[in-house]
Amino acid sequence: MIRAGETIECHSLDFGREKINLFLSFCKRKTLRISVHPDKSVTIDAPKNMKLDDIFTLARKRAPWILKQKNYFERFQPLPAARNYISGETHYYLGKQYRLKVIKQNKSSVKLRGQYFYIYSSNRNDVKKTETLLNNWYSVHANKIFSQRFEICSKIAKKHKIPPPKLRFRKMLKRWGSCTKNGTITLNYELVKAPVHCIDYVIMHEICHLKIPSHNKQFMTLLSKCMPDWERRKERLEKVLV
Ligand SMILES: [Zn+2]
Repeated sequence: MIRAGETIECHSLDFGREKINLFLSFCKRKTLRISVHPDKSVTIDAPKNMKLDDIFTLARKRAPWILKQKNYFERFQPLPAARNYISGETHYYLGKQYRLKVIKQNKSSVKLRGQYFYIYSSNRNDVKKTETLLNNWYSVHANKIFSQRFEICSKIAKKHKIPPPKLRFRKMLKRWGSCTKNGTITLNYELVKAPVHCIDYVIMHEICHLKIPSHNKQFMTLLSKCMPDWERRKERLEKVLV
């Protein structure tokens, strides 16, 4: 995005609580062009004789749009839903909805059958216990599903010369997944509530970070090669409730 031999001025624009850094350059064009790049940098190409004040007025008008673009990947996080863990409540597994049915039984267990999550508990009024039972069920199934999907995604990654990753799981509040420099990918247990094609997207996204850490153009290109329809999956993932 930065062309050789070009003078680039750095400016910043305050918008609400946000500070937007702008890279401004002047060129032969009639109108102002604002671009937000995948690495979140913002560039402005302005007509040669345009005044700085006018540029800022226009940039300020576009600030909500700029912030929306910048936040594109920050929305890569779960939407929490209020949970009471009582009969009749809806819970998700692999993108499908199931109703809770809490039933009194001395031996505790969880079964998924038809449209229902049957929670057998010695005290059906103990919502904390219901929550623990259900979460344990999710983590057991997450282990199984994530490992299977990880195998499939790793094979695709291998074709694109991405180093083989390691996998681990845990409960995370703010993220679907993350990766470390030493090649370990962590997936949020809650992700098992999302459809399989969205789970694959999170895995593929994190695997691609092992080769390219930031969301720049090369990252997008690599992700598109590994998973051409990733944007559709990402859109669906944004609607997943946990
Ligand atoms: Zn990322």
